[in-house]
Amino acid sequence: MLALVTGAAKGIGRAIALELAKNNFDVAINFNSSEAPAKELCEEIKALGVQAEIFKANVSDYDQVVTLFKEVKEKMSQPVSVLINNAGITRDNLLLRMKPEEWQDVINTNLNAAFYCTKCALRDMTKSKFGRIINIASVVGLTGNIGQANYAASKAGIIAFTKSVAREYAARGVTANAIAPGFIETDMTEKLSPEVKEGILNSIPLHAIGKPEDVAKAAAFLASEASSYITGQVLAVDGGMTML
Ligand code: NAP
Repeated sequence: MLALVTGAAKGIGRAIALELAKNNFDVAINFNSSEAPAKELCEEIKALGVQAEIFKANVSDYDQVVTLFKEVKEKMSQPVSVLINNAGITRDNLLLRMKPEEWQDVINTNLNAAFYCTKCALRDMTKSKFGRIINIASVVGLTGNIGQANYAASKAGIIAFTKSVAREYAARGVTANAIAPGFIETDMTEKLSPEVKEGILNSIPLHAIGKPEDVAKAAAFLASEASSYITGQVLAVDGGMTML
């Protein structure tokens, strides 16, 4: 069975791609700018005994996504059964200073891309009456955050999008779930100052920063047979940050 992971060369996407390979999925590795890390990951995955290929595409561009799905199917001789919408960016700024481009870039990459990829994946999934869509949201999509109106809106959008896909395609054998990571150690969070990191750490009941592997294990569960009765859910992987 084939899984496509967007933005798979680094961070959380990389960990998900590896974990799925360990769970016997063939993996299509999408990257945008990180070609060398994508190639390295591809070799690491092949060494696990499953198929892997890399595919360059900017997933915020619909035409490139259409081409991506065509190339994946041709090169890997099977359609995508598991789609992980992981590619994401931040362009943090206080709202009064936020430029329209900062708003648009984040919505295009974090939300529009998930729509484009899901639309392309659903054609084959509904035909085969099986599919798993897993969208990487964020806890800030549930809570909002200062300086992240664009990012939080994109992640809240992806949660509502997930629930809509879950409702619309449940009868066709396709489940859709979201994962809401909290504070995970990747390039995305590396740029935060030590003071901000300390503040975040103090707000995490488990008092630890998450690892990409923590998110990857949740994604592998949602991709597996074990989750077949779960759809339209948001699984927070956040050390307890957002518990009710
Ligand atoms: P990261 O290390 O910065 O990696 C982001 C990945 O997204 C990169 O591999 C990048 O690909 C890819 N990407 C960005 N724009 C793309 C585009 N237009 N087309 C294709 N790929 C694109 O970030 P991360 O922390 O692993 O984040 C992964 C996901 O988790 C994101 O959706 C993020 O919002 C979410 N998340 C992260 C955290 C956290 O604490 N780290 C918390 C909550 C949610 P290239 O390098 O090839 O350009």
